[in-house]
Amino acid sequence: MRPLASAVGLAVFHLNLLGPAVIAAAAASSTKDPSLFDVDHGFHAADVEYENGPSGPDVEVDRDLIGDMPYGIRIESCQNPGEVAITFDDGPYEWTRNIAEAFDDAGFKATFFIAGFNAWRKIYDTSTQYPKLVRDIYAAGHQIGSHTWTHKSLERVGKEKRIRQILDNEKAFNKVLGVIPTYMRPPFGECYEDCQQDLKKLGYHLIWWDIDTKDYMYNSEDSYNEAIDRFDEDLDDGGSIALCHDIKYYTAHKLVPHMISELKRRELKGVTVGQCLGDPEENWYRPVLNN
Ligand SMILES: [Zn+2]
Repeated sequence: MRPLASAVGLAVFHLNLLGPAVIAAAAASSTKDPSLFDVDHGFHAADVEYENGPSGPDVEVDRDLIGDMPYGIRIESCQNPGEVAITFDDGPYEWTRNIAEAFDDAGFKATFFIAGFNAWRKIYDTSTQYPKLVRDIYAAGHQIGSHTWTHKSLERVGKEKRIRQILDNEKAFNKVLGVIPTYMRPPFGECYEDCQQDLKKLGYHLIWWDIDTKDYMYNSEDSYNEAIDRFDEDLDDGGSIALCHDIKYYTAHKLVPHMISELKRRELKGVTVGQCLGDPEENWYRPVLNN
């Protein structure tokens, strides 16, 4: 278990600092995250865990709304000047370790929003690299958040399955980390008012973005520069939470090196979402009580 940051005595309270520019109203999203790995493709139909979630009981946690960051409302920008949070959805995958290490080498941190069962793997499958990978990036101080169990739109599945998508991903995280996150990103950016209230009851901060690289579209030799340009332009416009996908080859091999060097060139610091929101690290996860 990694040592939590020495945040206990250092927690700075940011009441009233979350202005309207920081937290958008709970409005419908106009920006989508069309991952290729929405798994409504049928090829998991025979997998019992895909349908029923990981084995074992739901995790028992204290769902108190800890800290000063709001819950159940769209958060799409950092609040600490000079800090930028680069976030990766849909992983982990083959390139995730390289991405995390590139951030380590730069003295930066990243945030990974993980779907426990996404197309090609379960994060707790010990026949794969993924359990150790998730533990390693967590131990290195990168932030881990939820991206639902099987990357479903929380709007399309309805209330009951929406809650199940969250609880099942908690079971997956518990098998690997022994904790569950308090931060999540809805797949496709789809989670409107009822959904946001459901996630507040479950104790989640909802993280959107204000830098949209669209790297899922620009994942080829001919197109990756478009994702780079979009990063730079949204940074020019004051963006501070970047949406990327660690499942994409050109993200790992071209966009990540560029983003890191660009932040350095601008004398900006690459940090986790929790860090740039001024939320102490002890608030990013909940210990599981029934282990
Ligand atoms: Zn996604």
